[in-house]
Amino acid sequence: MDIRILGAHNCESLTTSCVCFLINDTLAIEAGSLTSSLSIEEQRKLNAVVLTHQHFDHIRDIPGIALNLFRCGASIQVYSTAVVRDIIETNLLNGEIYPQFQKIPETKPTVHFNIIKPLEPQLIDGHNILAVPVNHFGTTVGYQISDDQGKAIFYTGDTGSGLSDCWRHVSPQLLIIEVTLPDECELFARETSHLTPHMLEQELVSFRELKGYLPQVIVVHMDISLESITKKEISAVAGRLDIPIAVAHEGMRLKI
Ligand SMILES: [Zn+2]
Ligand SMILES: [Zn+2]
Repeated sequence: MDIRILGAHNCESLTTSCVCFLINDTLAIEAGSLTSSLSIEEQRKLNAVVLTHQHFDHIRDIPGIALNLFRCGASIQVYSTAVVRDIIETNLLNGEIYPQFQKIPETKPTVHFNIIKPLEPQLIDGHNILAVPVNHFGTTVGYQISDDQGKAIFYTGDTGSGLSDCWRHVSPQLLIIEVTLPDECELFARETSHLTPHMLEQELVSFRELKGYLPQVIVVHMDISLESITKKEISAVAGRLDIPIAVAHEGMRLKI
């Protein structure tokens, strides 16, 4: 499985992009930087995009990719919970902010929404995808993405602490997990349902207790203004757990 990290952060700047990954060139996870990180030719190769929740940093490029594909006569399958689909239809592709690409062209609309239900596996673009509830606003889900070679990754999406229920449903070789803020912001992280390095450590310990191993770990969604201190704290967690923990960056490529 070939994984390209297009966006690794929770905010956009000259050097950072919002969360977005590409699996084997055709399956996108999140739409934080789908258009700004891919050429038009690469965008046309996309078959599907899978969304974890409705926050802007995760869905922002849905209108942009829809326009670009509409202009080339292509289309895309968008997978999310019904809540996220409704929010996008009501607030973005609503005919006021942007055209209703889910209705045009009439013969074959550019955007086709598909509803994901938690804990019901679905075959999406040749991958087995399992949505697993995590602890963030509303109905946020993380995704396990497996291929027929027995390779699997799990991406948490945005989440707060308390992932032990989630761990019971997944067995990835690669875990892509959010860490948004440094330890000094733990109170704010808990209020906004995000993780700090200290909270990451607790989640990884619970993973190891339940599953008997730790997967390769990559951290995403970091707040850029506090990144240097958060990175130092993540290194300390890696040392204590005696595992490598990589911090994702835009342009990173991985194979599992
Ligand atoms: Zn986010
Ligand atoms: Zn969020």
